[in-house]
Amino acid sequence: MKILLPGGAGYIGSHTAIELLNAGEEIIIIDNFANSNKKSLEAIKEITGKDFKFCELNYLDEEKLDKVFEENKIDAVMNFAGFKSVGESVKNPIEYYKNNISGALTLLETMKKHNVKKFIFSSSATVYGDPEKVPITEDSKTGGTTNPYGTTKYYIEQILKDIYNSDPTWDICILRYFNPVGAHKSGLIGEEPRGIPNNLMPYIVRVAAGELKELSVFGNDYNTKDGTGVRDFIHVVDLAKGHVAALSKLKKEGKGLFIYNLGTGKGYSVLDMVKSFEKATNQKVPYKITPRRPGDIAECYADPKKAKEELGWEATKTLEDMCRDSWNYIKSQNK
Ligand code: UDP
Repeated sequence: MKILLPGGAGYIGSHTAIELLNAGEEIIIIDNFANSNKKSLEAIKEITGKDFKFCELNYLDEEKLDKVFEENKIDAVMNFAGFKSVGESVKNPIEYYKNNISGALTLLETMKKHNVKKFIFSSSATVYGDPEKVPITEDSKTGGTTNPYGTTKYYIEQILKDIYNSDPTWDICILRYFNPVGAHKSGLIGEEPRGIPNNLMPYIVRVAAGELKELSVFGNDYNTKDGTGVRDFIHVVDLAKGHVAALSKLKKEGKGLFIYNLGTGKGYSVLDMVKSFEKATNQKVPYKITPRRPGDIAECYADPKKAKEELGWEATKTLEDMCRDSWNYIKSQNK
């Protein structure tokens, strides 16, 4: 199959590109490097020993996007081109709604025009808002998102449901990511947030590298085992493999709209993460407890059963693998 990957040079896109190439699929990456860089494209080639087509363009550019569909016989699309910083989305909601929603619409419209109807969408556990119960199953209530980033994911899910209702010949798979961390073991690709990181793992890594003084642990008075926030951290390579499994499902069965949680099913606290990082890397992570971050929830972790049963996929990597690989990436970048 020929799969189009908008945003394929980014963190999750590049790891998925590798797994798709390893599974024998053909890929075309489009990216405008808004939050990625060219060297990840070389890294994908080096890791897999395979080549692929790349077009530098913004997926909001209808004409250029149309040309890509015109010139290539695309079978399916996996969309990784969304903006993903919660904090940034609060500051720049218009940019977030425009890039994520108009981008998805442009893509879907172009797909429809060219009769390409297999779509895998990168959604997020944020669509569950503050969950009523954990572990979270796919049929839990969605909505009540607390920031524009999460709201874009929620709206796009709704758009996809409406598209499927209007025309059930679409094959749509919505993947709700929990907290992707880690990096490819080669150290050639990984997460590279611009500026000071917002997310836990990139922040820890920069503290361990001595680039930031200490981690602020946002609150230790939650109703969790040690009072700090609990999340379902998932290794990005496991997550990438989830996309390959979703693609097989669409290939085999097709004609449906499917929704899966991609998580490990295990909740780890912020302090678990600090300890695990120190153990896996032998680096110190100084931290201080600070007030809660507005909008944060106490606990969020997946019930991953549905993906296991229906996709035959489950996460296999441990928290220590995630810490070791994140650290390995930063070390190899700083050489
Ligand atoms: N967190 C923290 N310090 C930081 C960044 C995050 O204590 O510098 C906590 C945060 O409050 C949450 C967990 O780490 O409980 C995961 O946060 P992250 O931003 O990585 O993901 P999300 O909030 O999207 O789950």
